[in-house]
Amino acid sequence: MDRQKILILGGTGEGIALATALITLADCHVISSLAGRVANPKMPAGEVRIGGFGGADGLAAYLEKNSIAAVIDATHPFAYRMGWNAARAAERASVKLLRFERPAWIAQPADRWIEIDDWNGAVDVLRSSAERVFLALGRQELEPFTALKDIAFVIRSVEPLDPALIFANAEILLARGPFRLDDERALLQSRAIDHVVCKNSGGDATDAKLLAARALGITVIMQRRPVRPDVPKVSDIDAAIAWVTSL
Ligand code: NAP
Repeated sequence: MDRQKILILGGTGEGIALATALITLADCHVISSLAGRVANPKMPAGEVRIGGFGGADGLAAYLEKNSIAAVIDATHPFAYRMGWNAARAAERASVKLLRFERPAWIAQPADRWIEIDDWNGAVDVLRSSAERVFLALGRQELEPFTALKDIAFVIRSVEPLDPALIFANAEILLARGPFRLDDERALLQSRAIDHVVCKNSGGDATDAKLLAARALGITVIMQRRPVRPDVPKVSDIDAAIAWVTSL
């Protein structure tokens, strides 16, 4: 009997962990899909394809052409376009879909969070109250902050910034998580940061900045997660394996 093909929409640590777990199942052929945004991505185990599908229609055609049995959307919580495309494509191709998502971070009593829905909301808060700001965002998300000419920014990015982005005052740090609490604390203190801006990615690879901000009483401007389609959802590998073995 042919092994059933499972497509993992990845680009996350969860996608890699899932591929590693699923290739051990005897009747499973795992294909991981990456968007192709990062120059040297961590490669998942098993077959990998790279690049967009061409919207929901393109993904539906891919699912049918490749006889995919099921899709697991393990994309980042903020990769919502792919999440909606996956839901539409799975419905069109009559393929089962599971969402695999890490839980969101939840503010603790000692946290000083201001939650916002988009970066313009963050810019409004910063304009009235900030002097030295740590931006822990994707490099494609930085443009709205260039309008804040009186603020000193520390910007951390996995990849170099687009040269067209002009900040009046910015220090650029190229780094990829995970990050340690001691290092995050030292970073915030040494730059006298008064606000941290980030999105609610969840997980423990990048939460040290939040722990450091909590300890130092620094305000965190936190972007809420975007709305994703209502599909079956799990947040741990065992539950994902159980879903696949029940197909
Ligand atoms: P997005 O806005 O949801 O998706 C934009 C387009 O990128 C999609 O329509 C699709 O193109 C393509 N795409 C996205 N994920 C893909 C995948 N796994 N395989 C093939 N094509 C994919 O996504 P994004 O926020 O730009 O994120 C891109 C990738 O980076 C995702 O895989 C995500 O898991 C990862 N990532 C994102 C973040 C974040 O903060 N957004 C953080 C860490 C990692 P087509 O329409 O042509 O199919």
